[in-house]
Amino acid sequence: MIPIASPVLEKEEIDAVVGVLRSRHLVQGKIVEQFEKQLAEVVGVKHALAVSSGTAALHLALLAHGIGPGDEVITTPFTFIATANAVLYTGARPVFADICDDTLNLDPSAIEAKITKRTKAILPTHLYGCPADMAALHEIASNHHLAIIEDAAQAIGAAIGNKPAGSFGTGCFSFYATKNITTGEGGAITTDHDEIAEQVRMLRNQGQRAKYDHPVLGYNYRLTDLQAAIGLAQLNRLEEFTSKRIANAGYLNANLPSGITPSTPAGYKHVYHQYTIRVRTGRDEVATFLNAAGIGTGIHYPIPVHKQQLYVGLGYNGTLPVAERASSEVLSLPVHPSLTTQDLETIVQEVRKCLPL
Ligand SMILES: *Cc1c(COP(=O)(O)O)cnc(C)c1O
Repeated sequence: MIPIASPVLEKEEIDAVVGVLRSRHLVQGKIVEQFEKQLAEVVGVKHALAVSSGTAALHLALLAHGIGPGDEVITTPFTFIATANAVLYTGARPVFADICDDTLNLDPSAIEAKITKRTKAILPTHLYGCPADMAALHEIASNHHLAIIEDAAQAIGAAIGNKPAGSFGTGCFSFYATKNITTGEGGAITTDHDEIAEQVRMLRNQGQRAKYDHPVLGYNYRLTDLQAAIGLAQLNRLEEFTSKRIANAGYLNANLPSGITPSTPAGYKHVYHQYTIRVRTGRDEVATFLNAAGIGTGIHYPIPVHKQQLYVGLGYNGTLPVAERASSEVLSLPVHPSLTTQDLETIVQEVRKCLPL
């Protein structure tokens, strides 16, 4: 079976973890600090704050921007559910705007109509590792005095021109096992703003300002040195991982029917967390065929967030036709750095059998 995802964990990661075990310092400490420093450099920002998951990063980024009950945050319905759930955690209300049919990212032209007096932020996801249209989103945000919080969970190393994902607003990353780099579970917030960084530092550690001095309600969202050691080893290999993903996607783009391949706007660096094709009819049959041929596939995502039972139960009943159509047509193929030339040839050959356009 060619798996849909496969974390690359080798001698560097194993040695790094053993080193932390031998040091007997397991919790957030110097290795977390080193990881944060290196991550801030990669993202091109002043601060990176490591936390226990991408979901925790989103939650704390929203809280650090002062978002809470009575507020609204405009976001995409075509994302992993954690994006919107983080808004619910704060007591604010996620408001869904539809997506672009080509990139499947938040559609800037759908946002204006959703802005109310309660709107506080725009929360785009850089879906599959392709940045959202940050120029257009930034213009809307500055016209309406809204914060931008980026769900960059899938987009470490992505960029528009030379500007990295996670540096346009407050960036939220995930280092879950299948992400482009991993710490097992883990996440981070990136920002140029000292006050946001200070808030996050406090909120991730029980709202603690100085030892046993807790001015606000915080959480235990800390990352451990054990996890950060894996993260540092992975960060050192980010360019190698990313260039393999891009090369694998390039091969698939060149050899699959052009009507089904993903599109990337000019000047955007897509890091292919997922390589996702569009199958206009019979997507599930194609997935079954590929799985039987030994090719792992994924559907990201089969149900848009506003159609999830949780959200229907909360009263969401609108229609977002582009997102709804996409959810029945998307199919992710393996693109991870461990694929061999033979794997790529097999993927192309088997996809062409069922989609011979
Ligand atoms: C993975 C992911 C998250 C959540 O990250 P965790 O580390 O699993 O909490 C949030 N948003 C998107 C788009 C993701 O892909």
